Amino acid sequence: MSTFKAPKGTYDLTPPDSAKYLAVREAISAPLKNSGYGYIETPGFEDVALFSRGVGESTDIVSKEMYTLTTKGGSELALRPEGTASVLRAALEANLHKLGNLPVKLWYSGSYYRYERPQKGRYRHFSQVGAEAIGAEDPALDAELIILADQAYRSLGLQNFRILLNSLGDKECRPVYRDALQGFLRELELDEDTRRRIELNPLRVLDDKRPEVQKQLVGAPVLRDYLCDACKAYHEEVRDLLTAAGVAYEDDEKLVRGLDYYTRTTFEFVHDGLGSQSAVGGGGRYDGLSEMIGGPALPSVGWALGVDRTVLALEAEGIELELPASTSVFAVPLGEEARRVLFAKVTELRKLGVAADFAFGSRGLKGAMKSANRSGARLTVVAGERDLADGVVQLKDMESGEQQPVALDALVAEIQQKLA
Ligand code: ATP
Ligand code: MG
Repeated sequence: MSTFKAPKGTYDLTPPDSAKYLAVREAISAPLKNSGYGYIETPGFEDVALFSRGVGESTDIVSKEMYTLTTKGGSELALRPEGTASVLRAALEANLHKLGNLPVKLWYSGSYYRYERPQKGRYRHFSQVGAEAIGAEDPALDAELIILADQAYRSLGLQNFRILLNSLGDKECRPVYRDALQGFLRELELDEDTRRRIELNPLRVLDDKRPEVQKQLVGAPVLRDYLCDACKAYHEEVRDLLTAAGVAYEDDEKLVRGLDYYTRTTFEFVHDGLGSQSAVGGGGRYDGLSEMIGGPALPSVGWALGVDRTVLALEAEGIELELPASTSVFAVPLGEEARRVLFAKVTELRKLGVAADFAFGSRGLKGAMKSANRSGARLTVVAGERDLADGVVQLKDMESGEQQPVALDALVAEIQQKLA
């Protein structure tokens, strides 16, 4: 160990576990790539105002969890706590909404940073794969995104997750509901912090996990009763499309999500094997966000799935992903001449696309065979001076344990045939 450790609330991804993370990112992005979403990458930090304006001053993310810094030049920056605001900022900056047909469909994958109290499933650096569909108001688009996330999780073999669905209304009906809710909440016995939240972000109070608060919330006005006809019809259509697609969901009128920008459709994927950090992903429609950050009106919808918690969900369900061994052939030279000959063969195999590795350093046969085993290679090539004098190498099948001499000239073809 060195003098240093990974910072509090962070962890490193190292082999072999890191392969699982790559596979999860791949599994989540595959359905998106297959559905017209293009890859976007944005900086790890942004102007702090993008988030305070976009995500919202009163949210936990902005008020408590953001890593902010002032540069030597005096710019106020924040490490990105989430992806949507950045992606929308980038799409507007590149005029993607003017270049082609709407919606602009984008997906991303990367690191996010929140100053949180570290716990299992809650870290200060974590990773998400996300998707945004910008510039269209169409219930089928909301349904598409939920279906693709469902498909991603199913492709990983996950079963014990549920989809919670709600509508938050729009700029017509939500303010009316907000007033009614504030009226109800102001009558309750709540602490100072929560009282302040009633004025800033009353819907968030519904999200309070404390039993003494939840008890008082019985009988609170529910948003569903306040939805305008347009929002109701929109939500019905989303629900019908999901049902038609065979995607099960649960109506959850308490689901408000922690970001200010959501309107209409909101949803969360929760996994039942994760304890209190049960949300593996979430998203929704954010019709007002573009205008909030100075852009034109662009109704949009998106989600972000947490890679770390998805890996924990796999573990909770006891799912071992079938990850192909990264190395197919391992070469073990005995002696200087063999080193040069086998190194050339390994290079040749790699050029042909065969995953090959080599016993580097001057270890004995035993140590080298241990490396061959650990590599997971199907085949091992061993050669010593005597083999080479006979123009052969020993090709060992690591599954059956069988070993046979193969002419050096025929080695590459023989390996390709065996691996086919
Ligand atoms: P929570 O309610 O658990 O704090 P959130 O609502 O803040 O989650 P989102 O902002 O919706 O989470 O982010 C989407 C996903 O990213 C979450 O469902 C989760 O899987 C993941 N995520 C969010 N914050 C963290 C974190 N601190 N550590 C690990 N994963 C996280
Ligand atoms: Mg959070």
